[in-house]
Amino acid sequence: MSQTEYSLNTSIKNLKGVGPKKLQAFNNCSIFSVIDLLNYYPRRYLDRSTIKLIKDLKMHDSVTIVGTIEVCGIRRAKNRSIFEAIISDGTGFVKLVWFNGARYIKNLIKKDHRLAVHGKIEFFNGYQILHPDYDKIDTDIDPINTGSIVALYPLNNELKKAKIEHRFFRQLMREAKPYIEKIYDYFDNQFLDKEELISLKSAIRNIHFPDSIIDLELSIARLKFDEHLFLQLLMALRRSSIKRINTKPFSIGGNKEKKIINNLGFKLTNSQKRVIKDINNDIAGNSAMNRLLQGDVGCGKTIVAIITAVVAVENNMQVAIMAPTEILAYQHYKSFIKYLDMVQISCALIVGKQNKSEKEKILSALKDGKINVVIGTHALIQKTVNFNNLGLIVVDEQHRFGVIQRGNLLNKGVQPHLLAMTATPIPRTMAITYHGDMDLSIIDEMPKNRKKIITKVVNDKRLLKVYDFMKDEISCGRQCIIVYPLVEETKKSDLAAATEGFEKLKKVFKNINLGLIHGKMKKLEKDAIMDQFVNNTINILVSTTVIEVGIDVPNASVILIEHSERFGLTQLHQLRGRVGRGSAKSYCILVERKITQNSKIRLEVLEKTSDGFIIADEDLKMRGPGKFFSTEQSGFFKYKLADMINDGALIRKARSGAQRIVDKDPKLKNHELMKQRLLNDYSQYFDTINIT
Ligand code: ADP
Ligand code: MG
Repeated sequence: MSQTEYSLNTSIKNLKGVGPKKLQAFNNCSIFSVIDLLNYYPRRYLDRSTIKLIKDLKMHDSVTIVGTIEVCGIRRAKNRSIFEAIISDGTGFVKLVWFNGARYIKNLIKKDHRLAVHGKIEFFNGYQILHPDYDKIDTDIDPINTGSIVALYPLNNELKKAKIEHRFFRQLMREAKPYIEKIYDYFDNQFLDKEELISLKSAIRNIHFPDSIIDLELSIARLKFDEHLFLQLLMALRRSSIKRINTKPFSIGGNKEKKIINNLGFKLTNSQKRVIKDINNDIAGNSAMNRLLQGDVGCGKTIVAIITAVVAVENNMQVAIMAPTEILAYQHYKSFIKYLDMVQISCALIVGKQNKSEKEKILSALKDGKINVVIGTHALIQKTVNFNNLGLIVVDEQHRFGVIQRGNLLNKGVQPHLLAMTATPIPRTMAITYHGDMDLSIIDEMPKNRKKIITKVVNDKRLLKVYDFMKDEISCGRQCIIVYPLVEETKKSDLAAATEGFEKLKKVFKNINLGLIHGKMKKLEKDAIMDQFVNNTINILVSTTVIEVGIDVPNASVILIEHSERFGLTQLHQLRGRVGRGSAKSYCILVERKITQNSKIRLEVLEKTSDGFIIADEDLKMRGPGKFFSTEQSGFFKYKLADMINDGALIRKARSGAQRIVDKDPKLKNHELMKQRLLNDYSQYFDTINIT
């Protein structure tokens, strides 16, 4: 093939060595063209600097070793098949152990195979690695002695079945190498120089054929930057398209607003005042507000929402408040009517299980504009809900909703203002990405009457003492909450665990009123229980995690959390915020039933601090972003190399770079390649952006 015929869209079947079988396997992995192949990056590299010799290993090291399998086979122990293999690199031996899938592994790992093995060194009659991650490597590769860097590609079963191994992959990449010349950059040289980035061409070449670790790092930085940039570009476009919508400025300082502020029953904190000012600035302007209000549990976000809602209504607009659970929607409803009744503003609740005629009445009143404020859950974004003049949307605990849902609701108003509220203190670098499309206000101050909640991790052996303590609190008129987690291990539902616990607790707490609340209950039942708890006719509320967000009962002074080791720290912190809302000294008791070194360290963080940001950081470090966010959102991050936690500097670079591009070229008219990639890879997020 002559130079001129090289095209990045050439099918990989034109590359030497790709027959029909391999072609099919590649296609099944979404690799069709040469550029698809070039965008398939190695998952690991082997060279002298990354490989450890067995004689130098230390306990708990996470390492890569390269060696040959000396012996291997299945061993039976207690009705269970275990696959074990001994690997040697000439300086010592390590045992590799698989407790699961022994028969399957047996077909993959054989004597005399050369493997690069990655994992954590443990000790059990000698060094061993449990369930190691490994790559089979070719016998002719000697990354320790040649000084070369060997790329290892991600090989799934599909590829392995078609005999696509590392050696073949590297060969194929060499075939594809001349095509790299055809790669165009998204950025001009000036931009690259300013951001200190290498060209895309060099980056792709070096990611597959690195000459040195420095080359490799430079290309990884460039490719990571691109990934961040496109996400930030999306955010910048979103911000700019929202700003481009013209809205009628609201007037601030109406009589109803004043009346409420004068009758709060407490003084707003300086933080609350500052946030209200931010919000007023936005809604008094002529583009739609798009603001995230972040503040720890109990800092008083609701009243900010109420005041903003009143301003909207005084400007003849309707308001929708969206909460993540029905219980929370109901609680908001009660907080809202307490103030809205004072100024004759009509307010309704919509939830999923409402009876039909009641719901229809509310829906038609909403459509006619007779209801000013409506509060609900996801039900609010259903097609059947229509507004007369929706001017403000408040989304509480917005990290629970995907970006896409937020978009759905925005489409319901002509150009409604959006106020999102969250108590999840997302670490700063993450917030830029995750909430990159919003302006941010933070409440970093608690109301003056708050006391620190005393937090103790206790072993279940001490439970009886704890129960006695709770009885004492109840005899002083206080109330308690007991929370049960989701039980995955025993396949029991969280409901079953809570119900079972409830029966046991009834025997412990004789002559004390206990109430059970869980997600599977009918709304009326839940409401009744919550009412009784609020009125202090129920002394102890036993609950599943439905109680996690937002419930506000100032008289509750003790929260006991069962199996606390199963929760994330952020979630525990949120749960803890259910108490300490009144003037009484409050306690959070974390019952630990399955103690591990890790769970101890984790839970101690909560004993030590009540700063939600510190807790979120720890949580993120220990669990990674996948678990930090709920599953709906994890799909949002389509990263190959990039990493939300450790790429702080790159993310900031990408954000300012993206903003510069969008400021100059809001529809990407002069950035055709960028636009194409955005449309190809990110089109599912385009509900509020218009660049076509
Ligand atoms: P969150 O920010 O977690 O949503 P809430 O808005 O539910 O917190 O507020 C918690 C409690 O604090 C409520 O009972 C609320 O009335 C009260 N509150 C809010 N602001 C203040 C304040 N400035 N001073 C005293 N209490 C306040
Ligand atoms: Mg709240």
